[in-house]
This record gives sequence, structure tokens and C-alpha cells, in this order.
Amino acid sequence: MENEAEMTGVPARRPMKKSPTAIGNHQLSPETMMMGFGFDPGLSEGSLKPPIFLTSTFVFDTAAHGKRFFEGITGKRPGGAEGLVYSRFNGPNQEILEGRLRLWEEAEEALTFSSGMSAIATLLLTFCRPGDVIVHSGPLYAATETLIAKILGQFGITWLDFPSGATGEEIAAVVEAAKAKGRVAMIYLESPANPTNALVDVEAVRAVRDSAFPDASARPPIAIDNTFLGPLWAKPLASGADISVYSLTKYAGGHSDLVAGGLVGAKKFLDPIRMMRNTIGTILDPNTAWMLSRSLETLELRMSRAGENAAKVCEYLRTHDKVESVGYLGFLQEGTRQADIYKRHCTGAGSTFSLYLKGGEKEAFAFLDNLTIAHLAVSLGGTETLASAPAAMTHLSVPDERKQALGITDNLVRISIGVENADDLIADFENALLAV
Ligand SMILES: *Cc1c(COP(=O)(O)O)cnc(C)c1O
Repeated sequence: MENEAEMTGVPARRPMKKSPTAIGNHQLSPETMMMGFGFDPGLSEGSLKPPIFLTSTFVFDTAAHGKRFFEGITGKRPGGAEGLVYSRFNGPNQEILEGRLRLWEEAEEALTFSSGMSAIATLLLTFCRPGDVIVHSGPLYAATETLIAKILGQFGITWLDFPSGATGEEIAAVVEAAKAKGRVAMIYLESPANPTNALVDVEAVRAVRDSAFPDASARPPIAIDNTFLGPLWAKPLASGADISVYSLTKYAGGHSDLVAGGLVGAKKFLDPIRMMRNTIGTILDPNTAWMLSRSLETLELRMSRAGENAAKVCEYLRTHDKVESVGYLGFLQEGTRQADIYKRHCTGAGSTFSLYLKGGEKEAFAFLDNLTIAHLAVSLGGTETLASAPAAMTHLSVPDERKQALGITDNLVRISIGVENADDLIADFENALLAV
């Protein structure tokens, strides 16, 4: 808020101290910056941790300040809000969280939302108009598919998809077909796909997009749902995506105790989305924002431990005689296209995988019903291990044909590994497999 004094001639409150991002030439890592970045205790009674700011509105020093802040909020003046205005637009807890969230992907900005789905809905509403076409990878998170096909479909927006593992040529063919249908509003990806774990070649999508739309000003943005591997094991903005999408409910929140969403990317893409969020009120609440700031302090620890655990558990499961196969990113076969995409886009295999038991629903249910440590619940990315049966639960309403195509068979168990002791988890799975 340096402009305040210059604007009114009155010095404002003491300006916020800048948080360090480097010591000399040494760049600080996100995991270090999560502890205090963007918060100045001196402005909050010396409180080490940010208070939770439960207020619906913010007091302006002068009427001129109020006018200037509104000029920023409404876009009358470029540069955005210079001060806090009203809690549907912004708030200290959300701003601290957004300032930290963006650091993981070295993005210019981040926005947080009341859920992953409200982030996705706000994103799509911002860029799509009647007659437009959305090109997307398939399959997507079920609610995202419903939003695109059923809800946006009511407003004359159509879609075309390509399978997650598609090659550059296959993606280019779908983009060309979409261009023939209407204005391509957005290329929307999700990687890895659930439950196939198929990875999308973001670099190839970027190359196709740039050559299909030579005029840079007419290029549809590339957004990607990075919930499963982000922000630690995949950083799609570095691979050529424009907007990274998060259900912060999962690994970022990490304790299965909140619902939230986030978008990360360059300011030019997030500015119009912020305007949409200001209008429809999909911003995250201060309490959940505070909880998420706390979660981010341990994100690297939690995800690293969960990833190590998953590697050990999958190694155990893959040779068990009651197991048909394990769909885990750490087991991609050398020389395959998926392994090549993995090498170029990922730094870790994650902790969510597909376990195919020998047999069918009876065997999958026996396994699930005999777990002691792992909980029988949908969702992923928490400190505790969760297991579920997609065919009978999350994907119950998917037509049989599509289930078959996606490998959602009755013997499939989806597992998200947490931060427990790996040997305890192996003992739990060993015991449950006895009952199969
Ligand atoms: C959970 C999830 C979402 C939706 O997020 P909510 O926070 O539940 O709204 C979107 N995409 C993926 C990949 C998810 O796992």
C-alpha cells in the first residue's frame, strides 16, 4: 500500500514488512517460506501466528481510500485492490494463504475458493460463453464432467475430449475438430486421471495449442487439475499449463478436516477469475484459510512421508498372490509413452493408487471390510490411509460400458496412503488379504 501516502498525503498504518525469499544469493524453498511468508506479526499485536479475521467488512481511513480501493476491486484502475474492502472480495487470512500457495509452483498469483468444485466452476464461468467449445482430457473428476456436460451444456457450451494418455497428433486432431465446432474457450486437463492414473502430456498439449492458435491473443488458456500430484510431485505451470487447479481438500489440506479449492497461475489469467469470484462469492472463508495456512507448514513433510509409505506398500502388494495388479505411477514400464511423460512432468509417484484384486466385488468388499488401520472412505491425500471401491461408490452411476473402458472393474480398490508407519500399513493389508 505504498501509494496510500502519495494519494492522500497522510501516511497510512506502518507498511507491512516484506517477507524474505532469499538470503543473499541463496533462494529459500517453499517449505521454509510456509512458516511465515506474507504475515507481519508487528501488525497483529506481535502474534506469531495470524489471527483469524472474522469480519464481514473493513474500515477505510478516509473516503478517498474507500474510493481508491473500489477502483481497484472493480477494475476501473488496473493493479487490483490496494486494501481490504469486504469479505466477499478479500480478507487477510485468504491473502496470506494465497501468497503462500503460489510459491510451490513459483506462480505470480493464487486464488482460493470454498471448494475444489467452486474453483473449477468459477474458472469455467470466467472463460466460457454460449457457442464455445471446451477441449478436455478424459476421464475427469466426475463432478467436473457433470459441470461441463450437463450444467454448461444448458448454456450452449459444448465439449470434445481426448483420452488422458493421447499423443500430440491425437490431441491436435481433437483441437482441430473443436475449432470447426466453435470458439475454443479452454483446454482443461486432469493428470493423473482417476482411477486409471493415466498421465496427460502437458508439454504436448502446450505445443499443439500454440501451433493451432498462432495468434497469441486468441489462445485458449490451458488449465489442469493438479490435485493428485500437486503441489509437490508435479508443477504443471513449468510444463506449459497456464492455470493449475487444486482441490485443497486433499493433499494441501491434508487432514481430511476441511473443504477448499485453489487456482494458481499468472496474474493475467487470474485477474478475470478474481472478478468473477468477487461477483459470485466463491471465496474461501477465513477460518478454513487459517487451517490451510497451518496445513501448508507440513505439506512437504506429509507428502514426502506418504509417498515413501506408498512405495513400500505397493512393493509389498504387487507380488501378493491375491493381487492381480497394482496401478501405481512408480511401476510404469521403462520405454513406454507413460513412463516418458512421467519423467518429463513428475518428481514423485504420489500416494494414491489402484489395487486390482483377483476376483470381483466379493473379494474387494472382503478386503475393505477387514481393514483395521485404513479407513473405508472416499477422498484422498489425508494423514490417514483411506480405501474405497470406485465401481460401487464414487463411480456407481457411470454407465457399464464407460466403466469397462476406464478399468473401473468390481475388483478395483482405490487406496490413498497416509503418514502412518509403513510396516503397520503392510500388516493391515496382509491381514485384510487373508480374508479375501
Ligand atoms: C476432490 C476433487 C475435486 C473436487 O474438489 P472438492 O474440494 O471436493 O470440491 C476435483 N478434482 C479432483 C481431482 C478431486 O480429487
